[in-house]
Amino acid sequence: MYDYLIVGAGLYGAVFARQMRDRGKSVLVVDRREHIAGNIYSREMEGIQVHQYGPHIFHTDNEDVWAYVNRFAKFNHFVYSPVANYRGEIYNLPFNMNTFARMWGITTPQEAKAVIERQVQEAGIDEPKNLEEQAVSLVGRDIYEKLIKGYTQKQWGRPCAELPAFIIKRLPVRFTFDNNYFNHPHQGIPVGGYTAMVEKMLDGIEVRLETDYLEQRNELRGLAKRVVYTGPIDEYFGYKCGALQYRSLRFETEVLTVDNYQGVAGMNFTDAETPYTRIVEHKHFDFGKGVPDKTVITKEYSCEWKQGDEPYYPVNDEANTAIYRKYSTLAKEEFRVNFGGRLGTYRYTDMDEVIAMALKNAELLEGRT
Ligand code: UDP
Repeated sequence: MYDYLIVGAGLYGAVFARQMRDRGKSVLVVDRREHIAGNIYSREMEGIQVHQYGPHIFHTDNEDVWAYVNRFAKFNHFVYSPVANYRGEIYNLPFNMNTFARMWGITTPQEAKAVIERQVQEAGIDEPKNLEEQAVSLVGRDIYEKLIKGYTQKQWGRPCAELPAFIIKRLPVRFTFDNNYFNHPHQGIPVGGYTAMVEKMLDGIEVRLETDYLEQRNELRGLAKRVVYTGPIDEYFGYKCGALQYRSLRFETEVLTVDNYQGVAGMNFTDAETPYTRIVEHKHFDFGKGVPDKTVITKEYSCEWKQGDEPYYPVNDEANTAIYRKYSTLAKEEFRVNFGGRLGTYRYTDMDEVIAMALKNAELLEGRT
C-alpha cells in the first residue's frame, strides 16, 4: 500500500511526488504517456534540446520556487525576446518603446502615450469587458489590429470580443526600450533540458509509464491511501457535467541545413492568413549551440481540441468556467482524491505557479494520509 498514487508525471506530479518522498512517504507515479515531464518534455535533436509540446521559458518572482528549481537544474541566462512578423513587417515584443517607435515613427514615451491615448479615446472604452477592449485600451487600435487581433484569433479560434480580458494582461506593456517578454527577476532554461530536470525530481521514485489511471482505476485505486490526480478533471468524472473546452496545438518540426534560420527563438506571425501562430528555432534557447550548419524549427498550429487530442490551453470563458465549477464541487466530495496542476484545476498557468501550487498542497496534505 502506497501513501500516495500520483496520476501524471508532469511538473505538478513530479514536485508533489518529490515533496512527499522527502517527507518519508511512499509514492507511486503513473502516466499514460511513454515519457515523464508532461508538456515540458524536451528531447535532443541535432545536439539541441527540442521542446516537444511548445516552448517553455521558466520565469518567476517567487524566491522559494526559484531556489527549489535550482536544486534540480542549473539555469542558463536566456531571456525571451520574441519578434512579431506582420506580413513581413518586424516588431519587437512585448509591447514596448521599440514596438511603438517602429509602428508610429515616434521617439519618446510621451509621444507613444499620446498616440495610445488618442486611439483609446476614439474607441470610447471606459471599462474593458473583453480581450479586444482590453487590448485597445492598453496599446491602442494600430497595435491591436497588427499584432494582437490575428494572432489571438488564430490561437484561441474565437473573436477577441468573445475572449476574457485577462489573457492579454499576461503580457507586459512598457514605455522603455526593453524587449524582455517577462517582468520577473528570474528567467532561464534548464541546462540539459526540462526532461533531465524532472528526472532529477523523480529520482528514486517509482514511475509507471504507459499506465492509464482512468482505464485501470479499479486495480490502481486500491494501491494507495490517497490519489493526487493531475489529468483533465472532466475526463476523471466521465464528462458527466459536460466536456470542458481546450485549445490544442499541432507541431511541424523540421531539421534544416542552415546555421541560423530566423535569428531568434520565437517569431510570432500575427496576421490572420498565415496558418501557424509562430515558428520556434530551438537552438536560440541555448545561444546557437548544437550541430553547426543544422537547425531545428517548429511551426506551431493552434486547433480546437476534440476527445483524443492533447489538451493544452483551458478556454477560461464564462461557459467553461461554469462547467468547471460543477466539477470542482464534485472534486471536493471525492474521497481521498486531490486534484492539481493545469488540467486538474482547468487553469492557464505558468510553470512557477504550478510548482508553487504543488509545494503548497504537499504541505497542506502532509499528515493526512
Ligand atoms: N498575444 C498576441 N500577440 C502576440 C503574442 C501574444 O496577441 O504576438 C496575445 C494572445 O492573445 C495570447 C496572449 O497574448 O493568447 C498571451 O500570450 P503568451 O505569449 O503569454 O501566451 P503563451 O503561449 O505563453 O500561453
